[in-house]
Amino acid sequence: MDKILLKNAKDIFNKTVDLLIVGNKISAIGEIHGKIDAQIIDAKGKTLLPGLVDMQVHLRDFAQAYKETVKSGTMAASRGGFTSIACMPNTSPCLDSLEVLNMLSDKVMESATCKVIPIPAMTKDIAGVEVVDYKIYEDYGICAITDDGRGVQDDEVMRKVFIHAKEHNLKLMQHCEVEKISQGAPLHKGEKSDELNVSGQTGLAESEMVKRDINLLREIGGHYHVLHISAKESIEHVRAAKKEGLNVTCEVTPHHLLLCDEDIPGANTHYKMNPPLRGKQDLIALNEALLDGTIDMITTDHAPHTEEEKSFGLEQAPFGIVGLETALALIYTNYVKTKKISMQQLVDFMCIKPIEIFGINNGSLKNGDLADLCLVDLEEPKVVTPDEFTSKGKNTPFTDLELYGWPILTICEGKITYKDENYDF
Ligand SMILES: [Zn+2]
Repeated sequence: MDKILLKNAKDIFNKTVDLLIVGNKISAIGEIHGKIDAQIIDAKGKTLLPGLVDMQVHLRDFAQAYKETVKSGTMAASRGGFTSIACMPNTSPCLDSLEVLNMLSDKVMESATCKVIPIPAMTKDIAGVEVVDYKIYEDYGICAITDDGRGVQDDEVMRKVFIHAKEHNLKLMQHCEVEKISQGAPLHKGEKSDELNVSGQTGLAESEMVKRDINLLREIGGHYHVLHISAKESIEHVRAAKKEGLNVTCEVTPHHLLLCDEDIPGANTHYKMNPPLRGKQDLIALNEALLDGTIDMITTDHAPHTEEEKSFGLEQAPFGIVGLETALALIYTNYVKTKKISMQQLVDFMCIKPIEIFGINNGSLKNGDLADLCLVDLEEPKVVTPDEFTSKGKNTPFTDLELYGWPILTICEGKITYKDENYDF
């Protein structure tokens, strides 16, 4: 069996640690002495983290392979320190049947460099009309379903989704957006949308759906998860529901934590995503919610588009930015380095909570666990350079930002899936 010995790494508490991988598992962690016949990696001064888990990624492929493929998307994930990522169902064709689940699984077997968790559609073609037969999903081993890209608009359809999902043990992940309120507006409604002369949507577009769904959760039960939460009103609903003891969780993206509409520097479509960057008060509420436990995890909502598509102007360009290759450095630099959160909390938000909440088969650096890990350089700053991204998408608002905490080596189930060529191991 293949063996890899990582020597002299630092754990998140700054303690020196060695780690031995045998096959796909961690067979020893701590101080390892004696001669071991293994590939030795000198990790001196570098920090060892468990492989990260991202519960919201748009992998595209199939008819949208020009935007991203399973191969390029998972390579981007590996470069970002991730070892497990979810695949949202708004693919083309839509991930809503056994046939498309198998198509995805074939691509994953053939070309993925990390684990891919399929999150298929709640309703046929994510159209919000016909509920899919969830028995197929349950038999396939699916953990959660979503119509991400669209929220389920019709109350009665959503009621059926709740009832059937509970029957088949599926967690619900909702893209909360009442389209009657949002009207597909490209930006948050406020001074910035006025200034740029484009339509705006209020936080109510999101929070009204959060509210409706929490009422259904209270009545029917199950597990409900709010994707990419962005509005202060939504935070209030989730906080109250948690206090009430309801089984609700939520996630936030690095861009919603770090940017608000005031930061949009003119008609730049790299600041157009759904939900939109909201107001300053929303940003403050999200940051408070991250610290007080209302927010459970951080996900990227990685959404690659081509440069051409993003050149169509604020009203016409598609929503979305890439995130896999910058998430860790953004969170480390802005939260851990500034001492707003600890390294343990970062690991919780980006690995442990997704594993616990969704039952993801990802290692967390314990002896005997799957060898899913990444090695990070906390000392060496680097600027965000989209041309260097492995993702086909270069659409990020963080270009040229200097950040710390870049992954330099990623190992997924004992296999090296990313190695920064500037480091000599
Ligand atoms: Zn979404």
